[in-house]
Amino acid sequence: MKTMQDSRDEIEGLAKRLIKAYFVERDYTSLLSLISERISWVGAGRVEIGYDRRSLIELFARERQTYQGGWVISDEQYHIEQLGPDIAGGIITLTVQSDLTGGVAFRKPVRFSGVFRRERDGWKVVQFHHSMPFEEQAGETGFNVEKARRDYMEIERSLRQMLEQQGRKLQEQDGLTGLLNRPGFESRCREALAKPSEKRFAVLTFGVNHFRYINQLHGFDVGDNVLRSVAQNIQDKCVEGELCARLEKDHFAMLLTYSATKDLEQRIEEIRDCLLDEAMQQELRIHVTFAAGVYPIPAKSRRGVRQMLDKALIALQSAPREEGASRYAYYNDALETQLFRRNDLMERASDALKNGEFKLYIQPQVDLKTGQVTAGEALVRWVTAEEEIIGPDEFIPLFEENRFIRDLDFYLLEQLCKEMHGWAKQGLPPVEICSNQSRRHLCEAHYVEKFCAVLDKWQVPHGRIVVELTESAFVENDTEMYALSRRLHERGVRLAIDDFGTGYASLNVLSMLSADVLKLDRSLLQDFETNARSRVVLKKVVEMAHETQMQTVCEGIETKAQLDYVKSIGCDIGQGFFFSKPIPVKAFEKLLLKQRQ
Ligand code: C2E
Ligand code: CA
Ligand code: CA
Repeated sequence: MKTMQDSRDEIEGLAKRLIKAYFVERDYTSLLSLISERISWVGAGRVEIGYDRRSLIELFARERQTYQGGWVISDEQYHIEQLGPDIAGGIITLTVQSDLTGGVAFRKPVRFSGVFRRERDGWKVVQFHHSMPFEEQAGETGFNVEKARRDYMEIERSLRQMLEQQGRKLQEQDGLTGLLNRPGFESRCREALAKPSEKRFAVLTFGVNHFRYINQLHGFDVGDNVLRSVAQNIQDKCVEGELCARLEKDHFAMLLTYSATKDLEQRIEEIRDCLLDEAMQQELRIHVTFAAGVYPIPAKSRRGVRQMLDKALIALQSAPREEGASRYAYYNDALETQLFRRNDLMERASDALKNGEFKLYIQPQVDLKTGQVTAGEALVRWVTAEEEIIGPDEFIPLFEENRFIRDLDFYLLEQLCKEMHGWAKQGLPPVEICSNQSRRHLCEAHYVEKFCAVLDKWQVPHGRIVVELTESAFVENDTEMYALSRRLHERGVRLAIDDFGTGYASLNVLSMLSADVLKLDRSLLQDFETNARSRVVLKKVVEMAHETQMQTVCEGIETKAQLDYVKSIGCDIGQGFFFSKPIPVKAFEKLLLKQRQ
């Protein structure tokens, strides 16, 4: 364990090396090795030189231009104060004298002060300031070294105060953007909320959408610039009493004040619209959007700031996802219940798979010309030990987030093929079964090979399985999706475009992809009786599908009228509650057996 004394010695050693490099050797390289990559302030006299390494390099270069020789130093005094385990400040007074070789005669006391921080590779200088006595800088500085030495106690106290403030600032500051960091935000929020105020407060937290993509495409420097720019822009939007912070990576937080709810709404929209200047967006050819969550803090709330941030985050996670658009959501208690449910399902999923709680259901599909069940769609149900039946809409989106979906889809495919193998052994007429496959399989290596290996293991002819891929998946990941569907096709697996009519690029998908089956989404059927346009769309889509040699399946047929209509426009296959709900696979088998008789 290093003691405070060890640290003091290290810092003093660093300060001595700094003085030597700066005044005696006048050597850039050794100077820079002592300076933090994230130096945040450089000053001389009363002038602020800058906020980064470059400023220090420029300052040093200027000083070397004025006088190229070295200095002889004497009367060095080091006063180092450690303010915390990783932060210290110091003041160094010394007298410097020109060595006469540089053509300058100069002998004056100098004050040097700095802030030091412990970084991964030891203590580094993070702030740097030096000045000469008042008269030498033509009134530019108030420093008088003789008086300073006499009043050392006084100086030390004020220095300590100053350093404490600076130390606090540094500890609470995010090195990249200069905004508050997470601990800083939390402690400043606590202070702000403790003060009496007429205003109402809300915590806003947001992430920059697709920030990883910006980094990948343009490199980390551009990524950093984007973050700095966002930081600057949101800071500019803060009014008195408000705070803004970068919590980590591309994740920011703000404490906002407002009077009426509609003002809050307006503030959030202002922030959404100011994230990145138009010029920068154009230059980088990126459109920066955010996903945000808002927690309006109830009056006299006793919650801790961390809990408030958590609630804003819960709201963020619930914000509706829409590609390419900013989105935000407000916190409410139901969201927390939902989150609890999600976490609970996630935690139970692996065991449930092992215990066989995921059951294969099949919804029959009917040939509209003959009225026979010739196919079906495999759909999963989670039947828990307590016999609760959980529908896939509740858990599939969760499993897609953490890739558990791969295990589940393969598990169900295996169940399906096993059953189909049994049907063949019983001599049932062949049926085609549609299998929903998640878009998350796109990034999996050898997916197609693994998929076909399951079919082969159970001797299921590839052509009996129809893989359903949703239309929206093609819109989002077009290249990978087309490649995947081509590879499945090459292996003789049939392809269906699911939920046709709900995505944005329906027609485009049709022209690019040679699918075998087009599944018309049930939303297209919903208003066909009252909406003449819907009727035209349905009819034309069926025509178009036939002209491109695709079979059409109409989903969600619930009424006789709907059935009659889809028949009248020549649709091939019908699926919906009118015929049957999804039923357990064994019940489907019975239905096939009965049909054979
Ligand atoms: P989907 O692929 O569009 O499946 C059709 C959904 O519509 C099914 O809901 C089905 O029960 C429902 N449906 C069928 N006929 C009617 C009808 O006449 N009226 C109404 N209102 N609904 C009808 P389900 O089973 O809840 O599945 C929801 C979604 O979950 C599916 O939508 C599919 O995207 C996904 N899914 C289901 N099973 C799996 C699976 O094993 N793997 C993957 N990756 N996704 C699955
Ligand atoms: Ca489907
Ligand atoms: Ca569908």
